[in-house]
Amino acid sequence: MEDTGVHLRGVKKKFGAIDVIRGVDLDVGKGQFAVFVGPSGCGKSTLLRMIAGLEDTTEGKIEISGRDVTHADPADRGVAMVFQSYALYPHLSVFENMAFSLRLAKRPKAEITEKVRAAAGILQLVDHLDKKPAQLSGGQRQRVAIGRAIVRAPDVFLFDEPLSNLDAELRVQMRLELARLHKALGATMIYVTHDQVEAMTLADTIFVLQGGYVQQSGAPLDLYDDPSNRFVAGFIGSPS
Ligand code: ADP
Ligand code: MG
Repeated sequence: MEDTGVHLRGVKKKFGAIDVIRGVDLDVGKGQFAVFVGPSGCGKSTLLRMIAGLEDTTEGKIEISGRDVTHADPADRGVAMVFQSYALYPHLSVFENMAFSLRLAKRPKAEITEKVRAAAGILQLVDHLDKKPAQLSGGQRQRVAIGRAIVRAPDVFLFDEPLSNLDAELRVQMRLELARLHKALGATMIYVTHDQVEAMTLADTIFVLQGGYVQQSGAPLDLYDDPSNRFVAGFIGSPS
């Protein structure tokens, strides 16, 4: 295996007697933007949570940045996850929401201020740092949730349908911002969505999940032009 990025080998997940992930091999190179797509209930969130360490891995191996992290603590994987529901603390300011994990880690005050201000700059939140989440728009709240990940400077960002609660216009805008963010940070990103347009526009590589396996992976246009089976064709392929 390469020594950077995210690499899964023979990864399986059972919930009780139910096989959700039946054997997944995948490689996301360092700095790549990977997108997992697939129907509702196919295990996209489960696979992402396994990479984050929020779910145990039943079988197989997960390697991140050259280390076997299959059974590592979530805090020790160099990953940060951005959830679909923003999970912001309503009683805390934008600044404190973004500072939260750094305060937990007992980072020095000056470092916290610097990191939060830098993230706020990238996310155009500088003028909103004293506000409470309720005073923000949906898009701004989502940016705060992303800011909470950025301050931790992870090797890998994990996004679970981060835009699905936003209206169509805002989704388009946030999509552009995510692409910009990926360029600016140069970090590895793994992004779960059931939105075909998001997948096509954001991904370097799309992984189509179904039935517990990766059905096909490749560059968006390759999947679009040459889907390997009817399922992939129906999901992402050109209508032919
Ligand atoms: P997706 O994100 O693709 O919609 P999920 O990963 O959320 O799919 O779920 C995949 C399957 O695993 C579903 O059938 C779901 O009901 C099941 N599942 C997810 N989490 C649990 C859990 N904690 N216990 C039992 N079954 C679960
Ligand atoms: Mg999900």
